[in-house]
Amino acid sequence: MIIPYGKQHIDRNDIDIVIKSLKSTLLTQGNKVEIFEKIIGNYVGCNFTLAVNSASSALQIACMALNIKKGDIVWTSPITFAASANCAINQGAIIDFVDINNKTNNIDSEILEQKLKKSKKINKIPKLIITVHLSGQPTEQEKIWKLAKKYNFKVIEDASHSLGAKRHNEKVGSCKWSDISVFSFHPVKMITTIEGGMALTNNIKLYNKMNLYRNNGITKNYKFFKNKFDYSWYYEMQEHGYNFRMNEIQSALGISQFKKLNKFLFKRNNIAKYYNEQFKLIKDLETPTVLKENFSSFHLYILRLKFVNTLKKKSEIMKFLKSKHIYLNVHYIPLHLHHYFKKKGFRKGYLPNAEKYYLEALSLPIFFDLQNNEKRKVVSSIKSILKNG
Ligand SMILES: *Cc1c(COP(=O)(O)O)cnc(C)c1O
Repeated sequence: MIIPYGKQHIDRNDIDIVIKSLKSTLLTQGNKVEIFEKIIGNYVGCNFTLAVNSASSALQIACMALNIKKGDIVWTSPITFAASANCAINQGAIIDFVDINNKTNNIDSEILEQKLKKSKKINKIPKLIITVHLSGQPTEQEKIWKLAKKYNFKVIEDASHSLGAKRHNEKVGSCKWSDISVFSFHPVKMITTIEGGMALTNNIKLYNKMNLYRNNGITKNYKFFKNKFDYSWYYEMQEHGYNFRMNEIQSALGISQFKKLNKFLFKRNNIAKYYNEQFKLIKDLETPTVLKENFSSFHLYILRLKFVNTLKKKSEIMKFLKSKHIYLNVHYIPLHLHHYFKKKGFRKGYLPNAEKYYLEALSLPIFFDLQNNEKRKVVSSIKSILKNG
């Protein structure tokens, strides 16, 4: 049996609810989307929520609502999925990166502050910063928000990994320290709607805009009409937009999956605890640091192999583990080292912390159905690498 780094947990209730919703009259634009949106909004404590067909789409409408356009400067973490940058690139923005903190693997607020100071001198303050709560560990979002007020930039939280994560006992995604936050419901994430995502905000203007962009720029609400026609068929295209809607089946699955979120969080934290205990005393390994004011959702368990100093070495280790049917992954290749960004002039050496992280980081299996014997096998296989050099 193959042990992957992550996978979904679908139970009988999920299957029943999907079949039931397939038999209902409305497969799109019924009430299940709204119910799902309310559930997530209530849970994280955010006023306005928009379910969409992926987190990438959520990031896209977020950038559109914040009016990111050609030539605007947008900063994000180099250690993230491509979508955190693509959303701004699609709008014509110029991307730059803020190096990560060596303990949390998130954007380092000190490095950010230094970079802002320098950028102010040359009049290159970003219009937007997209933070990423990597693996489910919240960033120091309140510090970044303070800088946002001081230097006047917008903030999106890419909380794709972090449904259920907390900082100072407050749930990630509440937008207390950001303009917009985003969740992903891809199968490997905390809960799944197969593909799916959500954009959240406390700002009704941003909400109304994102609502338009999600639905081809169209409103059916008379209240918002520029031309006050009350024809029964009338709707108004006010902006250009996309079809980013989530459907009824996905929302039904999301509602059902959400009921298991606490169970998922508990299990993931338990697996993390087990790995921590097994690895924490081993000199060449560094277990994840969760700041004391944080609760991690542990979407990923990222172990740092301190002895790995080449990608070739890492590749050999992963091949060896694969031969034992343990299929691991690396989250992520630093964005600035991708071909696309190299073409833009980014070079190795630009972000030393992220580049060191890339050599060392390995995502171990962590998901609800991971069995005890599988956990033990992962641990013994990793330990055997250390023994054999
Ligand atoms: C998964 C992920 C996304 C994209 O999510 P989709 O729902 O697959 O579009 C964006 N950002 C991060 C950090 C992710 O992990």
